[in-house]
Amino acid sequence: MCTVLTQLLLTALHRVPSDALWYWRIGMDYPIVAAYFLFSVFALGACLGSFLNVCIWRLPLGESVIDAPSHCTTCGYDIRWYDNLPIISYIVLRGRCRNCRTHYSCRYLVVEALTGMLFVAYYIKTGLMELPLAMTASGFVMILLAITTAWIDVKHRIIPDATTFPAMLLALIAAAAFPEVWGTSNHLLALGGCLISGVFWGVVLYLLAYLGRMIFRCDALGLGDVKFMIACAMLLGAPGAFFVLFSGSLLGTVFGIAAALIRRKPLKHTTIAFGPFLAAAAVVWLFAGEVLLQIYLSGKLAY
Ligand SMILES: [Zn+2]
Repeated sequence: MCTVLTQLLLTALHRVPSDALWYWRIGMDYPIVAAYFLFSVFALGACLGSFLNVCIWRLPLGESVIDAPSHCTTCGYDIRWYDNLPIISYIVLRGRCRNCRTHYSCRYLVVEALTGMLFVAYYIKTGLMELPLAMTASGFVMILLAITTAWIDVKHRIIPDATTFPAMLLALIAAAAFPEVWGTSNHLLALGGCLISGVFWGVVLYLLAYLGRMIFRCDALGLGDVKFMIACAMLLGAPGAFFVLFSGSLLGTVFGIAAALIRRKPLKHTTIAFGPFLAAAAVVWLFAGEVLLQIYLSGKLAY
């Protein structure tokens, strides 16, 4: 069974086509074009990071992210477009509201810059590894979900459905539109693979969450974590989801034990948010997944 699975994974890895690289090659040939592409990708990430800031603030409060225009949460001043430019406006206004001079959280700057930098890094990675351009689309969705989840879960201890459900929908659209992401040229097959991956991990993790509640009498695995994992499985595939669950849980558990020791509290009274650890593991898989999978498979074959 393990050998069959290993061969299937190897086949999937080698079936990724390498003919969609014009976008990278013209950039490599002409440095100005490369700079233009990288700046455009950074700008796209920063703009989407600006939208993530709205999601991070409003979703836990149950507010709409599209209805009301951006406004200062202290004085209600409607933020003008020129004060809403990602990164630039924060630096120009030195992180203050133009009207009441209240300090804004540095989160606005960090999320915009981080999203932009991760977008550029992932774009470069897909180019260097000769992966299909379509992979950047699902990778960007994973980056957006990871940043939002980490921030909201740390602050509010929830992972809203309004972040995981759209990510699942975008994963389905990406699979149907760009089947090469799933190592096939058949649109239906890719869509089926994406659906099966999500359903499989959903069933397994819902069962684990249910058993955890029955045995430990507490939510060892929250339903928000389960839905985040389903989105991971649909965006990264089953091996990626396994890595995210395993390493994210391991990191979270080590952090929980360290926190209990530092606070000198019993472990059972120490609660931690797993979302940031799962999100961090998802980003690690995005950037090093192929290498980690090859190391695992070569170890299996050698064995
Ligand atoms: Zn204000």
